[in-house]
Amino acid sequence: MERVYNFSAGPAMLPEPVLKQAQAEMLSYGGSGMSVMEMSHRSSQFMELFEKTKANLKEVMGIPDNYKILFLQGGASMQFAMVPLNLFRKSKKADFINTGAWSKAAIKEAKKIGTVNIIASSEDKNFTYIPAWDASKFSGDADYFHITSNNTIYGTRYTTFPETGNVPLVADMSSNILSEAVDVSKFGIIYAGAQKNIGPAGVTVVIIREDLVGHGPENIFTMLDYKTHVEKDSSFNTPPCYSIYIAGLVFEWIKSQGGLKVVEKRNLEKAKLLYDFLDESTLFRNPVVPGDRSIMNVTFVTDSEDLDAKCIKEAKELGLVTLKGHRSVGGLRASIYNAMPVEGVKKLVEFLKKFEAHNK
Ligand SMILES: *Cc1c(COP(=O)(O)O)cnc(C)c1O
Repeated sequence: MERVYNFSAGPAMLPEPVLKQAQAEMLSYGGSGMSVMEMSHRSSQFMELFEKTKANLKEVMGIPDNYKILFLQGGASMQFAMVPLNLFRKSKKADFINTGAWSKAAIKEAKKIGTVNIIASSEDKNFTYIPAWDASKFSGDADYFHITSNNTIYGTRYTTFPETGNVPLVADMSSNILSEAVDVSKFGIIYAGAQKNIGPAGVTVVIIREDLVGHGPENIFTMLDYKTHVEKDSSFNTPPCYSIYIAGLVFEWIKSQGGLKVVEKRNLEKAKLLYDFLDESTLFRNPVVPGDRSIMNVTFVTDSEDLDAKCIKEAKELGLVTLKGHRSVGGLRASIYNAMPVEGVKKLVEFLKKFEAHNK
């Protein structure tokens, strides 16, 4: 069976060398005679793998020493609850920028136990841009400030981040973590579900500054307390061992590519190929304000839903799959995470050009 170019927004493509290594190690990992799936999370072999995985993520992202790296379950969606539960500790206020459905999901949870102040929103234009923020509107005494760094559904991303001073900046980076170099020290917490750019679903990476750990309420549930997971090094209960193992292979793959700077450069090139085509096209258009365009999720439409559907169908026949836009925005979306090769994007652009010529 030929592999396809899978433009899914998540779960998404993984690098082929990672899948091959996982295949080679499926029956016996490191001479153990068993798969990582079958291995005790307390075994020295798994613990070694776990330590190496953490160290590689730290190296790849340049995570400073005063941050803890956690591998949790519950997805990014669980973080929508854990962040307010653990960080609402003084004013019980949080500032948010609303850039779409995932921001709203985070806002909804925070509102259940505190006050949410929406600093800026791009809802007026269906989230096709990152709104400007006015620092004079910041609460000042907020317990945290939350952003969604890349908006998977609409195809927008932040290119600069709000300066929040002493208020910890929290970012949902689910769909653009590891896509470009970021200065981790600007953030209080970074969290990301793995299934976009890290590995398989089932594990969520949380990078948390040490001083933000341990401020939850007295009666906080054990499993929802960052302190539990920091103290037990993500192994209070059984961690998602196999997902962590694959994530570890992805981190090694990023290193083998030359690190985040190299990966970022390639991602910019891939995105440029697609956006340049869309900007010249008379059939397709990308609705996002150019300066705010995501380099991971590229959304585009024709003026006809029928043509959109026809395009998705014909692409699929060529092995260019999962191009349907999110149900809330329609059209098409090409998610071009780290594992999408340049050739996949070239093939997509080539196809779109032909489709345009035949359907004008
Ligand atoms: C996919 C996604 C989520 C949801 O992640 P789960 O791991 O399914 O909970 C949240 N935020 C963003 C930005 C996403 O892309």
